[in-house]
Amino acid sequence: MATRAVKKGDRYVINGTKCFITNGPVANLITIFAMTDASKGVKGISAFVVPTKTPGFSVAKWEKKMGIKGSPTGELVFEDVEVPAENLVGEEGKGFVYAMKTLDTSRPVIGAQACGLARGALEQAIKYAKERVQFGRPIGSFQGIGWMLADMAAEIDAARSLVYQAARLVDEDSPNKSYLSACSKLVASDVAMRVTTNALQIAGGYGYMREYPFERMMRDAKITQIYEGTNQIMKLVISRELLK
Ligand SMILES: Cc1cc2nc3c(=O)[nH]c(=O)nc-3n(C[C@H](O)[C@H](O)[C@H](O)COP(=O)(O)OP(=O)(O)OC[C@H]3O[C@@H](n4cnc5c(N)ncnc54)[C@H](O)[C@@H]3O)c2cc1C
Repeated sequence: MATRAVKKGDRYVINGTKCFITNGPVANLITIFAMTDASKGVKGISAFVVPTKTPGFSVAKWEKKMGIKGSPTGELVFEDVEVPAENLVGEEGKGFVYAMKTLDTSRPVIGAQACGLARGALEQAIKYAKERVQFGRPIGSFQGIGWMLADMAAEIDAARSLVYQAARLVDEDSPNKSYLSACSKLVASDVAMRVTTNALQIAGGYGYMREYPFERMMRDAKITQIYEGTNQIMKLVISRELLK
């Protein structure tokens, strides 16, 4: 973590850059993590709330993305951004703990996003499979297509159950919440990628065209395997919990 926050009297002065920040370019208020004591490693990280109207804050870049184009992503710059000491979130040096707790909560949310996307793609695929006629029959009546739909539906229901279970453990503040949060994001995002890819396949050539929503759903699904920690990192979290 390269961003620094230095205490000066009753204020903190923040300097650094944050990349790929969801909704950053349009936010009024930002939560930022910064090093208040670099010598302490993760125990030197603190969290702050920064109103974006504060002098020294700027948006350096709006990213051009593959998908989720409804949500702007940007690079944010903090140049001698001064905030009152009361803008420190919780205690100094506890930022890493807050970040990890936040991720436990937000990962099932990404799982839920993935389930919603997958369900939408399945609904579109079912509609298409009923309407499109080839060789004198709706394509859904071919076993090859019907079984694809069955796999998609079963996987979505399994992923949704896992997301609900993880959300319950987060609500209960269970000791297993990190494990199941990571599992729910890993499974649901992989399901979303598979389901959206297969939904596009069911729509054939039209699946590839922008006229239909399939290609957008496939592009949107990809991010759920990346942000809030990649799925490789989810496996790291899960295996660490298993080997504790
Ligand atoms: C659209 C979008 C929005 C985002 N929004 C936000 C946001 O609002 N706030 C925010 O803080 N961040 C945000 N991010 C950042 C996002 O969380 C990171 O991009 C993501 O966690 C991956 O980190 P990275 O890009 O540095 O990839 P890297 O860490 O460089 O990873 C590259 C590859 O190496 C693999 N890898 C890395 N380490 C390991 C390891 N130990 N074992 C095995 N494989 C490994 C990764 O899985 C990946 O496949 C956003 C990103 C995107 C694309």
